[in-house]
Amino acid sequence: MQTARLAEIRARDGNRCSRDGSSGYLHVHHRVRRSQCGTDDPQNLITLCEACHRWVHANPYAARRLGLLLRHGEDPELIPVRHFLWPAGLIWLGPDLTFILSGPEPAAA
Ligand SMILES: [Zn+2]
Repeated sequence: MQTARLAEIRARDGNRCSRDGSSGYLHVHHRVRRSQCGTDDPQNLITLCEACHRWVHANPYAARRLGLLLRHGEDPELIPVRHFLWPAGLIWLGPDLTFILSGPEPAAA
């Protein structure tokens, strides 16, 4: 991934872990894994601290409920995430490094 893109994602996320707000050693995580054709587009990338990044991959079902881990073929632009910057609810990640407060009608659970 381009260094500039890493910096953009960290800046969008307030230079904090999106899960717990930590400013420790930060990773940029692919919501759809690179091995599953996940892209380097902003809506597929999110900042996590080292501990939360490990947590996401160790707890895929819980991470999925937070929007942090998506399946191959899912569109990260359409699936919201929990983000420490937006404690009131879910937030969508826009392709232009923005946050979007409301997304498409959610699919029936
Ligand atoms: Zn964290």
